[in-house]
Amino acid sequence: MAATDGGRAAGALPWGHAAQNLPGRPPTCVYSTVHGRTYGGAMKAHLALLAFAAACIAASDPEGERLLSQRTLSMPVLGVAPTSLHDMFNDKRGGSRPHEAIDIMAPRGTPVLAVDDGQVAKLFLSKPGGMTVYHFDPTGRLAYYYAHLNQYAPGLKEGMPLKRGQLLGYVGTSGNADPGAPHLHFGVFKLGPQKQWWKGDPVNPYPALRNAAVVTALR
Ligand SMILES: [Zn+2]
Repeated sequence: MAATDGGRAAGALPWGHAAQNLPGRPPTCVYSTVHGRTYGGAMKAHLALLAFAAACIAASDPEGERLLSQRTLSMPVLGVAPTSLHDMFNDKRGGSRPHEAIDIMAPRGTPVLAVDDGQVAKLFLSKPGGMTVYHFDPTGRLAYYYAHLNQYAPGLKEGMPLKRGQLLGYVGTSGNADPGAPHLHFGVFKLGPQKQWWKGDPVNPYPALRNAAVVTALR
């Protein structure tokens, strides 16, 4: 399995996890590390390390999970069955960063499809994710994130409406994916009140995709 990140964009930060460091968020790996340093002392450092480890387990947003369970999804990669998926939301990427997404292995050039209706919120080129699509669901509460694309579907534009099963692009290895292991990095996050495409609370996509319909032909 390719040990890649595909992490979402977040302003100027390289790894796309700025959203986790905002006030009101649970402590993150970065925050906990700083916290540990400020305490000092062997025992306290040890406790801080324990807290550090606990904080590095990814948390899937419960409200986001509820919202996602209400959506009817289809699989984001043509011909891939849900039974072939593995839950890798809590896997670590690049050390202690949680993956917060799922990797779907497929040959380069396999069509990547919209999992739901909605609209294209952003087409973004990022260092870890490469060619990415941010897709808002019809309720505007959830965003779907597709990364490491080989190329976009012809005519794909920001703001355009999407139908479930619609072609978004093709599986590839853009960004930090292993060139020998093409895959789609697929994530879901719950949007905040301002509906900023780069910011939100991660939601584990695995339970919803396990119930998603296989797509065997392009629309
Ligand atoms: Zn990934």
